[in-house]
Amino acid sequence: MADTMRPAWATINLQALRHNISVIRERAGGRRILGILKANAYGHGLIRIAQVLAGIDAIGVARVDEALQLRNAGISGPIVLLEGFFSPEQIPVLAASGIQPVIHNVHQLTQLEQAKNLSDPLQVWLKIDTGMHRLGVEPEEVESCYKRLVAMPHVTGLPILMSHLACADEPKHEQNRKQLATFAEVTAEHPKENTSIANSAALLAAVGPEYDWVRPGLSLYGVSPFSGKTGRDHHLQAVMNLQASVISIRRIKAGEPVGYGASWAPGKDTYIGIVAIGYGDGYPRHAPEGTPVWVRGKCYPMVGRVAMDMITIDLGAELTINLGDTAQLWGTELPVEEVAAAVGTIPYELLCNVARRVQLDYL
Ligand code: PLP
Repeated sequence: MADTMRPAWATINLQALRHNISVIRERAGGRRILGILKANAYGHGLIRIAQVLAGIDAIGVARVDEALQLRNAGISGPIVLLEGFFSPEQIPVLAASGIQPVIHNVHQLTQLEQAKNLSDPLQVWLKIDTGMHRLGVEPEEVESCYKRLVAMPHVTGLPILMSHLACADEPKHEQNRKQLATFAEVTAEHPKENTSIANSAALLAAVGPEYDWVRPGLSLYGVSPFSGKTGRDHHLQAVMNLQASVISIRRIKAGEPVGYGASWAPGKDTYIGIVAIGYGDGYPRHAPEGTPVWVRGKCYPMVGRVAMDMITIDLGAELTINLGDTAQLWGTELPVEEVAAAVGTIPYELLCNVARRVQLDYL
């Protein structure tokens, strides 16, 4: 038995992150990189990931509090407030902290015009709705918005024109062609170095390669955005290993139910491993029977219901693991993409949902 049995923890391999950055740099060619660190760096820990990314061109977050956390931790490079969630009262804070807001509607533009007494000028991004129909100004509004931004005394440099693709993870989707055509039209008269469209999928599939400022998120963490692929297919390395100890091994007789709802019972006598991770740690409550869990070189099926602090795995009639062994829920041995497919979700959700109580150990 292991000396120390631990409930859920995650190892975060910063060397793998560095490797992924170099792969992304190569894919990006000379284009600038805006690394996406939303949602606690997709569950990997905002500050530690930002420190490794210090050499890249900019960091993108979704919320003002995330941007300020970075500044308070001494991250001094450019920070972009990607989703443009801010209130008029926060505009002076953005200016004083050198945080670059994304303006995505005319209402925000007016708020920015009315902002007074800013201690520092703001670099701004202008989001254009090329067809995703969530955030962004209409294509017909781009020129008037752009002129208004350039005319503001407290806006510095030229606004960077950006858009987001709805179907980049399906590179041949007709929607990409339509959105790219609209983006080409509205950016035609603007310098290419002030444009941005590619997330990880667009970068990896070379969709919209002529635009600068690629915005990789998922790929930084070694994960593929494409269904049926894993990071390895793109020469990326998984950064997170989510792990937990096997805290008990039980022999269960055929027909004896296991766990809440007595929803599962083995067809024949078997061993059950109890693994110290549950939905309180962010392991998906709806993971179905058969979701793989890796222990000692082999994947075992999860059986019964996911509880708050534990799950159960069917080890079979011949016991080949030991009490105290470390189970991997996803990571280098069991790609998070495969777990997400088994659970019926996307790897983004699994990574972002890792709970605060899961300790992150940096390697
Ligand atoms: N750009 C924007 C505007 C985003 O909202 C996101 C993530 O949601 C990204 C880029 C990064 O996307 P991905 O993680 O698929 O690379």
